[in-house]
Amino acid sequence: MNKKAVVMVSGGLDSTLAAKIMLDQGVDLTGIYLSAPWGCCDKTVAMKAAHTLGIPFLVIKMTDEYIGVIRNPKYGYGSSMNPCIDCRIYMFEKVKEVMARIGASFLVTGEVLGQRPMSQMKNSMALIEERAGLKGLVVRPLSAKAMEPSLPEQAGVVDREKLYGITGRSRKEQMALAIQFGLLDYPNPAGGCLLTDQEFGIRVKDLFNHQDKIDLEDMELLRFGRHFRASPSTKLIVGRNEQENATLAEYLAPGRLLFQPDQFAAPSVLLLGPPDDDMNGLALKMISRYTKPEKRPAEAKVLVKIGVPRGNAPLQGETVTLNESIAQEELDKMRIGL
Ligand code: SF4
Repeated sequence: MNKKAVVMVSGGLDSTLAAKIMLDQGVDLTGIYLSAPWGCCDKTVAMKAAHTLGIPFLVIKMTDEYIGVIRNPKYGYGSSMNPCIDCRIYMFEKVKEVMARIGASFLVTGEVLGQRPMSQMKNSMALIEERAGLKGLVVRPLSAKAMEPSLPEQAGVVDREKLYGITGRSRKEQMALAIQFGLLDYPNPAGGCLLTDQEFGIRVKDLFNHQDKIDLEDMELLRFGRHFRASPSTKLIVGRNEQENATLAEYLAPGRLLFQPDQFAAPSVLLLGPPDDDMNGLALKMISRYTKPEKRPAEAKVLVKIGVPRGNAPLQGETVTLNESIAQEELDKMRIGL
């Protein structure tokens, strides 16, 4: 066993501390960041942390294969649509591939025993390691002393005496360590993985219930706008602000229509599903519903854009007049999450 390892970096305090503890023991570290559309951590923040630590930084981009893990978790979901055990197994498997490629002997994580109810309990941590083919090869510098010694500790590659025994959800000890190590510029704990969020979970469930083939882009779209299920095959997304309107335009693709207010401040609507006059009418009623009366011109027009393959300009469909609005109760019945 050599002294080369990879560390999963999120940019947060725990993983930064874990990396720092290993670097102080002379471990040759490479930082790995796993990117997913619902992830809790920002890639730029993680990259900055790796830079501060002075370690190489690699990104593993999650693929559509990962959706299968989220959709059919062998070990079930947590409080929302977060299949943490299956997700961690998958992540560890991906990290293991990188370890083999760069000749690293073990994995370092910032996990803290008992910090998360599903994936950071003793039994689940052991299960995850084993299922990912990394049994005994995960060093958790923050909690190591509260756990069985890992293989690198047993082999003396890592000095167990210089590791910690932090457990639970309090962050006091990590903050004290940050001061001790002079790590003063770290982000506050992030909002967390969106899959643990109840409202996002409702959207995920709706997507899983209505669509057979799902890709990362479908999942990405769940983050923007207000979502409405109009029929088993049709969903409408209404932008909540200028930025979301612009984002929805970027997701215009074949099989989708974009309804864009023509020179007045109002939401855009992205319609996902087969073309249908009723659904088009619904998109217009939604724009009408969410347009402030004072922003609405006497002759409000909406441009209908037709999605084409990426890289081409969208086709311009008809320009239609905006008139009636949709009743709130009708809207509420179709709403998916908040
Ligand atoms: S919180 Fe989200 S990213 Fe983290 S293990 Fe659970 S499902 Fe995966």
